[in-house]
Amino acid sequence: MRTVLLGAPGSGKGTQGKKLSERFGIPKLSTGDALRAAVAGGTELGKQAAPFMNAGKLVPDQLVYGIVEERLGQADARKGYILDGFPRNVAQAQVLDAMLARLQQPALESAVHLHVDDEEIIRRLLERAVQEGRHDDKPDVIRHRIEVYNAETHPLLAFYQAQGKLKTVQGTGTIDDIFQRVVAAAGG
Ligand code: AMP
Repeated sequence: MRTVLLGAPGSGKGTQGKKLSERFGIPKLSTGDALRAAVAGGTELGKQAAPFMNAGKLVPDQLVYGIVEERLGQADARKGYILDGFPRNVAQAQVLDAMLARLQQPALESAVHLHVDDEEIIRRLLERAVQEGRHDDKPDVIRHRIEVYNAETHPLLAFYQAQGKLKTVQGTGTIDDIFQRVVAAAGG
């Protein structure tokens, strides 16, 4: 399985990606997790990324390419992987295609879009703000992240539709029900 999970912040990409990773024994790569680890570790990458993340903006594309290429180049990613939070715009999607070719890996097989309406997204993100205390889960930052999603990430749906890879699943219901849909959509 070589898939990317698409969907607004709070649509469940992290939860479903983790379950796919466990079920299929392949790595999940979350650029958001990797960037938060870099911020927590006080690395140069973390220092550059933090102001963008705290403002709910995308970090500059160049900051995430290294993370992705390094992870996809590792041995365990040769049998498959799940991408969560990357690509985030069309330029990143084009770079990903080129990167896979350079790494002599097969192309991405599917892009699974978790569809959740805006009201539910806001409800989930506010709840996560309380539970996890993420710096970017404050109301005004949440609003901005949704705007960024609509402006920059949503166009990826058309990009993958044109490649014949897009599968949209309803991202509401129980975690297990959603998982069945995601597995079917990702061709598992
Ligand atoms: P996430 O956990 O995927 O919602 O990501 C949290 C934050 O990390 C985002 O709001 C961005 O600031 C940054 N980020 C994560 N992935 C990317 C990416 N592929 N490109 C640019 N910024 C990203």
